Amino acid sequence: MRTFVYWMLQLTWGLPLNVIGAIFALLLICLGKKPKRFGYAVYFELGNHWGGLNLGGFFFVQKNADKRLKSHEYGHSFQTLLLGPLMPFLVTIPSAVRYHYRSYRRAKGHSLSPYDAFWCEGWATRLGVKYLKD
Ligand SMILES: [Zn+2]
Repeated sequence: MRTFVYWMLQLTWGLPLNVIGAIFALLLICLGKKPKRFGYAVYFELGNHWGGLNLGGFFFVQKNADKRLKSHEYGHSFQTLLLGPLMPFLVTIPSAVRYHYRSYRRAKGHSLSPYDAFWCEGWATRLGVKYLKD
């Protein structure tokens, strides 16, 4: 896949999530944050110890995020290419709800299942590994 094809699909089939991602990206640029490249995607680093968020071809991760985290968020961007307008409803919103539920459970002292046990999270990790090699 080429950069052009990746972004053409993001900005058509995956447009809704990318509009939100682009607004976040513009706000961060206005705040002086520098966009960076990871594969075909554009990402920003901000905050500490929170993980990451994917919004189409854009993703946002904690400062000094390791390659594993960036690769995982990058993997979500390929889910957007496959799921298009269904992505927010099948992946983004359920993942966000699960993220907050897990934080709540952790704060209550409960043990947690592996992060990638949730179908779309394990899938994102595998996609990130797969497409970084190309
Ligand atoms: Zn994820």
